[in-house]
Amino acid sequence: ATKESSSDDLVPSRRQYLRLKAHYPHAILLYRLGDFYEAFDEDARIVARDARITLTSRSFGRNGRVPMAGIPHHALNHYLARLLAAGHTIAIAEQVSEPGKGLVERAVTRVLTPGTVAEAALLPTTENRYLAAVARLPERTGLAWVDVSTGEFAVLELSGAERDLLLAEEYARLAPAETLVPDTDEIPLPPGGCLTRLEHWHFEPERAAQRLRALFATRSLAPFGCQHLPAALAAAGAIVVYLERTNPALLSLLTSLRTEVPARRVGLDAATRRNLELTRSLGTGGTRGSLLGVLDRTVTPMGARTLRRLVSEPLRDLDELRRRQHIVGALRATPELRSRLGSILLAAGDLERLTSKIVQGSATIRDFATLRQALATAEALRGALQASGEPALQRFADDFISCPELAALLERALIEDSDGPRLRPGFCPELDAVLAAVEETRRFLATLEQRERERTGIRSLKVGYNKVFGYYIEVTRPHLSRVPPDYVRKQTVATGERFITPELKDAEARLLAAEAEIAELERAALARLTREVTTRTNELLRLAGWIAWLDAFRSLAEVAAQYDWSCPELDESDTILIEGGRHPVVEVLLDGQPFVPNDCQLGGDGPRLLLVTGPNMGGKSTYLRQVALIVLLAQIGSFVPAARARIGLVDRIFCRVGAHDDLPGGQSTFMVEMVETATILRQATQRSLVILDEVGRGTATQDGLAIAWAVLEDLHDRVGARTLFATHFLELTALEAELPGVANVHVAAMEQDGRVVFLYRVRPGAADRAYGIHVARLAGLPPWVADRAERLLIGRPAPTPAAPHSETAEHPHGLTASPHQLALPGFPTRRHAAEELARALLELDLANLTPRQALDWLFEQRAKL
Ligand code: ADP
Repeated sequence: ATKESSSDDLVPSRRQYLRLKAHYPHAILLYRLGDFYEAFDEDARIVARDARITLTSRSFGRNGRVPMAGIPHHALNHYLARLLAAGHTIAIAEQVSEPGKGLVERAVTRVLTPGTVAEAALLPTTENRYLAAVARLPERTGLAWVDVSTGEFAVLELSGAERDLLLAEEYARLAPAETLVPDTDEIPLPPGGCLTRLEHWHFEPERAAQRLRALFATRSLAPFGCQHLPAALAAAGAIVVYLERTNPALLSLLTSLRTEVPARRVGLDAATRRNLELTRSLGTGGTRGSLLGVLDRTVTPMGARTLRRLVSEPLRDLDELRRRQHIVGALRATPELRSRLGSILLAAGDLERLTSKIVQGSATIRDFATLRQALATAEALRGALQASGEPALQRFADDFISCPELAALLERALIEDSDGPRLRPGFCPELDAVLAAVEETRRFLATLEQRERERTGIRSLKVGYNKVFGYYIEVTRPHLSRVPPDYVRKQTVATGERFITPELKDAEARLLAAEAEIAELERAALARLTREVTTRTNELLRLAGWIAWLDAFRSLAEVAAQYDWSCPELDESDTILIEGGRHPVVEVLLDGQPFVPNDCQLGGDGPRLLLVTGPNMGGKSTYLRQVALIVLLAQIGSFVPAARARIGLVDRIFCRVGAHDDLPGGQSTFMVEMVETATILRQATQRSLVILDEVGRGTATQDGLAIAWAVLEDLHDRVGARTLFATHFLELTALEAELPGVANVHVAAMEQDGRVVFLYRVRPGAADRAYGIHVARLAGLPPWVADRAERLLIGRPAPTPAAPHSETAEHPHGLTASPHQLALPGFPTRRHAAEELARALLELDLANLTPRQALDWLFEQRAKL
């Protein structure tokens, strides 16, 4: 146990540690001791648990033993990644004085937090890693975020009653690794990521604005478009304070601030992103099997990150979407150019993170060489685009950010040969002089052997070098008698003796001194390059962005060409018209088996709400999602998997899947389902696209049907969103007769030799039967059980649910009473139906009606109720 009552009792090393630790109470302090980074006390326990390192202990003399966990210095990054993933903040204390007599001085040189890691080795290559901040003022919420490895820095501000929901949505899009919140405010944020509380005064808008003006050295924030957004500024200001605290070098990466307008984007909440599997597959948990997995043919890490953002941020900005379509279209039409761009892009590397590395002062000469290559690559890309003859590509080339001064500087500074990159002679004359002197000394040493052989007459005399003794002259035993007097004996080896001479040692000393001088001069030259590059951070990052976009566009074009996608027509209408649509991911996963294309018409003069029925496994979910994904692809500017598509832009997409038995956390999946459904009814507008898959499943049949029914009515009557609703409640299909905007479709299946054959074709009308028992057979239900179920069904009287007369009258839209339906009496006749009846009655030409016609009319009307 430790006895540390007063600091006088402490041994110096323990005192030093505790003093440093006192400055970082909320961080894990990693304290460099020789070849290890050590954590002590409580920190040690955390490190042991979260980095999976053995917990030991260390003695501090009379202060006793304390728990300790040590990370070998060469494996630091590996364990840091684990600690950061667990959400910890880590302060690293390095030795800052030369080890010698007394206590080595130590100081914290870096503080790593989950959101401020800039080391490429600790980051996922193809994803952005964000540090976010949230500020709340009355009536407004501000969100700011930064990726310190790429310099992306942006804000947005939300207002209105729904701002908490919208915040959750933005949060789901960015998935920040760390979020700064004021220490006084409880902000409702979805779980995930780590929360860091910051003193609330750092979120004060006026102070924040001042801080940002100082950072950008501007007198106004108007150029960034956020001068009138106090909550956004407050959040951005907090980020600046926090970076100052943790890693101030990163601030020079923040050269600009982008103000995002949420209204420009298509709203997608967390559940929709998950259910549509945009960037993560529910099956694999990774990119494979997701939409991004199909779309990503990028060759640079920054291109991959941009494409990921693109998929996460569909737009409703027609001009921008058309611009993107033109670029993708032009690249799709030019396969040779596409492949040439692909091979040039390979050499572009990760210019964003390279810039970040340089700005932080940790770049090597190799990094500058990579930068030079990236600049040359960018020029080559521009050249290829300009020469393409495609107006859209030429316009894109006009946005190129040229960095001629930087390219010239690097050209002057660097030369590359078989030994790799080095400073070019002439860039640093002092260095050249030292190098020339070294060369001279080397030449002297090289000729020394020959001269000494001639002087002594010993033909086997050799000049050698080893780490311990430096340069020496070796003479084998038989010739020792001829060694001249100025040779000083240094070492005996098996075959003879090794000597030094004053001349030799003098040369050696000169080489040694030169080595130190060269290192110093090279460091200075790199520092100079770093400074020069840092002044152009803004241009470099914009150039990197340009390359990244090109890579992303090329990727979209590649996919469009390979899978034969078409360019959707976009407009502001409220029509979705898809001919021959396919599911982009399922089609690829079918791997050669034919995917059955399907049409879809929603809105315009067609129905606004399609009720999709059909057997399990028949293709309902696939159809629903394919429509949503086609709309989403159209609204990122991509081509779409359809023969032809016309998309009236949507403002939000909702995709909900009813509670499934296999969802984790069973107990309240129904609750989740209802919360999500409530969100849709509150947020969806007439311009939204709503996908509901088996909603209402999570509860007893009667409840579920009743809820599904009411939700459909509300979507139809009040919300008016374009909706696809898949259900196994065949009772709902009766709504088609009642609600003018509703139409039934079903995925076709047929029975063949007692087995069900799925046709995957979407046809008008409701499914006539559920094929539940057939599907159960397919799933391996024992035949005696399936047989029994069949007998039970046949023996059951046909129920008469929402359409009481379906036994006698064929429903006009193909709904026939199905013995598979469940009885659900007592659904209230709707006001709507009464109105329709009244209208029909008024239209009736009573004067000219025969009794027979009147009777027919009565039957007809009753059938509709
Ligand atoms: P449901 O939602 O009706 O239970 P799914 O949409 O999940 O059915 O489809 C089940 C499987 O059928 C899919 O995983 C896919 O393999 C196949 N499938 C669905 N739609 C098609 C189609 N249009 N063409 C070919 N295969 C399809």
